[in-house]
Amino acid sequence: MRNPKWTRDELILALDLYFRCSPTKTNKENKEIIALSDLLNTLPIHPNRNGYEKFRNPNGVYMKLCNFLRFDPNYSGKGLKEGGKLEEDIWFEFSNNREKLKKISQAIVNFAPEVPRLIEKNNLEDEFEEGQVLTKLHKIRERSSTLVKKKKNDVIAKTGKLTCESCGFDFAEFYGEIGKGLAECHHTKPVSELKKGEKTKLRELSILCANCHRVIHKSKPMLTIAELKTIIEKR
Ligand SMILES: [Zn+2]
Ligand SMILES: [Zn+2]
Repeated sequence: MRNPKWTRDELILALDLYFRCSPTKTNKENKEIIALSDLLNTLPIHPNRNGYEKFRNPNGVYMKLCNFLRFDPNYSGKGLKEGGKLEEDIWFEFSNNREKLKKISQAIVNFAPEVPRLIEKNNLEDEFEEGQVLTKLHKIRERSSTLVKKKKNDVIAKTGKLTCESCGFDFAEFYGEIGKGLAECHHTKPVSELKKGEKTKLRELSILCANCHRVIHKSKPMLTIAELKTIIEKR
């Protein structure tokens, strides 16, 4: 059986490694390549990876690094032609922003153990720039009921209502009694900016209606509340 396609997360990790060890100067015996192979075999992304004989083995990782060569202006050889559109996207998104690449890679490594296996069909429309693992973690954190309750209580205590910080929608005002207390809580700080074990602060949460929340997460990187406000006002 053919191995599953590389996901965004996996390609981000591979590109980060590419810049640390060029495939022109190494081979599949390289320690870091073996380490990435091991890591990819533990990520909560492909539920049936045991069904593949050579799932992300060191040779596969090495070949993936070689796939990036064809985009590299510093490489004069031909490079492998094989490879998908996504690796091209990842190259152009991150090759000029290595800091961010590194930060996201590190966060995937740090936080992957906190993410339960992603069994549901991956909804790529919902995927953030940081890839599936961090998307999932972001959503888990946004549903953390203690923090959400605290934030909502805090806002209600201060303003007497729960209005969307982007569009001003108020569930209680629109739906009446049944809408009371409804609103979503958005983490404005991307998971890739978090340190391991860092607690989210109330001021890093924003109250949003479900629609605005959806829209904010649609672009890569996600919009800020202010950016969405501007979009709404300009219409
Ligand atoms: Zn809204
Ligand atoms: Zn959010």
